[in-house]
Amino acid sequence: METIHRDDDAWRLTDRDGEQWGPFDQLLVSPPAPQTAALWAAADWDDPRRAALAETVEDVRYRTVWTAVLRYDFRLDVPYYALVDVEKEHPVGWISREECKAGHVPDDETVLIVQAGGEWSTDNYDRDPATNVASLADHAADIVGDDRLRDPTWTDHQGWRYALPQEAVDTEPLTAAEDAGVYHLGDWVPGEARLHAALRDGLETGERLVESL
Ligand SMILES: Cc1cc2nc3c(=O)[nH]c(=O)nc-3n(C[C@H](O)[C@H](O)[C@H](O)COP(=O)(O)OP(=O)(O)OC[C@H]3O[C@@H](n4cnc5c(N)ncnc54)[C@H](O)[C@@H]3O)c2cc1C
Repeated sequence: METIHRDDDAWRLTDRDGEQWGPFDQLLVSPPAPQTAALWAAADWDDPRRAALAETVEDVRYRTVWTAVLRYDFRLDVPYYALVDVEKEHPVGWISREECKAGHVPDDETVLIVQAGGEWSTDNYDRDPATNVASLADHAADIVGDDRLRDPTWTDHQGWRYALPQEAVDTEPLTAAEDAGVYHLGDWVPGEARLHAALRDGLETGERLVESL
């Protein structure tokens, strides 16, 4: 969705193709905080709650994640599925082996997911992806202790600039907006970057909405 409109007592939406949706009595807003803030910054709602929402939601800080996927023509012989940097001090936060998942990787191959930590991901997010992949392959080789990991035969990568919300939003403007029939939900509301947190927030929001009817 691209634009939120409020007219009379109804919510309407316009998508990126210009198609109009609505009218709706209630509006549930579930994009991540940066996209939600942008929606409210551009919204057509002549009410002080609009600016309060845009400003408050924009304040939610996120951790960035950059990930390399590395394939090798040999099966790595190590006694674990994954390594995790619980101290969050290393450039790499997570390394896992896709071949440990049944049916994902041919018998004599290895596919590593190498997920960089927040600081490394932020610092290198806009760098040439090939350089990032090579750097993460070197880190994987050093961490696992196998020089063959420096030379993957195939690679892929994915970055999430706004991956993991780091703090809960100030809920006061969100609660004030609920009187106008607009509800916000997602992991950034409780500030816990976990599926179960997003699900719980969605269920609780649904209950509040039902009670308001
Ligand atoms: C790399 C990575 C690894 C993770 N690993 C784990 C894990 O192991 N365990 C775990 O529990 N959690 C993990 N998480 C966190 C988990 O993915 C999130 O907490 C969860 O997906 C949040 O759900 P959500 O519904 O709040 O947001 P999202 O899942 O981000 O859903 C938001 C939706 O809004 C849509 N959207 C955006 N803008 C608009 C718009 N303008 N109009 C309409 N729709 C829009 C998006 O397309 C998206 O579908 C991980 C996250 C990342 C990035």
